[in-house]
Amino acid sequence: MTKKFHIWTSGCQMNVHDSEKIAGIFSEIGYNEAGNSNDADVIVLNTCSIREKAEHKFYSELGRLKKAKKHNPKLKIAVAGCIAKQKGEKLFKRFPYVDFVFGPDNIESVQGWISDNGPRTSVIGEDPDYHTKLLPVKRAGQVRAWVSIMYGCDNFCAYCVVPYTRGREKSRAGHEIYKEVQSLAEQGFKEITLLGQNVNSYGKNLSKSIDFPDLLYKLHEINGIQRIRFVTSHPRDFSEKLIKSIKDLPTICEHIHLPVQSASDNILNLMNRGYTYKEYKKKIDMLRDAVPDIAVTTDIITGFPGETDADFQCTINALTDIGFDGIYAFKYSKRPDTKALDLPDHVDDKVKSDRLAVILKLQESITYRKNRALEGKKMEILVEGVSETASDKLTGRTRTNKIVNFYGDVSDVGKPVNIKILEAKQHSLFGEKI
Ligand code: SF4
Repeated sequence: MTKKFHIWTSGCQMNVHDSEKIAGIFSEIGYNEAGNSNDADVIVLNTCSIREKAEHKFYSELGRLKKAKKHNPKLKIAVAGCIAKQKGEKLFKRFPYVDFVFGPDNIESVQGWISDNGPRTSVIGEDPDYHTKLLPVKRAGQVRAWVSIMYGCDNFCAYCVVPYTRGREKSRAGHEIYKEVQSLAEQGFKEITLLGQNVNSYGKNLSKSIDFPDLLYKLHEINGIQRIRFVTSHPRDFSEKLIKSIKDLPTICEHIHLPVQSASDNILNLMNRGYTYKEYKKKIDMLRDAVPDIAVTTDIITGFPGETDADFQCTINALTDIGFDGIYAFKYSKRPDTKALDLPDHVDDKVKSDRLAVILKLQESITYRKNRALEGKKMEILVEGVSETASDKLTGRTRTNKIVNFYGDVSDVGKPVNIKILEAKQHSLFGEKI
């Protein structure tokens, strides 16, 4: 009987792509993907530690598997991702039914663990050569593909665990990325999303001098790739050269995710973000001058230690001032090893929640107003497949990363089609093919 694996994934795009690599290793050693965890011989929990809530989600999922293991003692349970890196062997003490723990740099160790018949062990060391390794990838889609261009982060923002769980910045060689994207184009993928914690500092560790815009100009040449996206950018390193490449290169989509986190200079300083709100706004203005219809989204943290009502009001004003197309907003969450833990004046949880509610309500009206402004417009979308919310509809994204649903034929999947926007919703658009 062919053995089966199941991967439970939580967190960012990096983790989603890491799960594709874990699936690639299992497929390479002859395992099939189970439809759900009940049919699996091995279950991998690929974890996120960015906020307390993500950690609790992991513990409840692991708690659920205790019964499954009792029911099937042969079942193997592995923990991967950022919590694996943070906790390592300690997880065995609290969860004795866990068999394997491996970090973000140690995905290839799954192969050895399986061939050794899955002894209880953990592999969480930082691998200085991880960025040079080409792991097999079992991709979830057939139209859009993730491509890692670098790993780790050197910024040490005061609230963030990433530098502790994913190590120092390491960029992949430009020719390796070029080869991977070329192969994706040959396989029929139309859109790629370049992944890095801070893609704007790509190339720093490479002997051959190449920076992020240089890489974009190179990848733009590859036939078959119609759209290039990238996450995540850091405002401090968001250069004029990058803005020029977004303007010049037709494959670069008109959507930028640029996390501001707060609009109070006092809080930005405490967060160790390395820019002021004025500098951030200036880059947004330069971007909009160069690419007028560009969509901009951002991340916001409310209730960071020391945040006063006045600081919070700065962030409210910024939402109105900039008019983001969308935001990902969260309450500040205490994380292990981070500098913010030791800061004074931690904000009461009720105050954090109230501030978050105000931000989300305000942004909802801004997002909806921006979506309404698209009604009647003709927009090109890349059809990704059947809509998750309505099986009789197809779905895709505009170049500005708006989700559009429409009635169409599955033969449109993977193709760019023109849509007339008929109706705006809060988080998506509905249209008709023209
Ligand atoms: S840039 Fe800051 S927030 Fe982003 S991954 Fe690095 S340390 Fe975390």
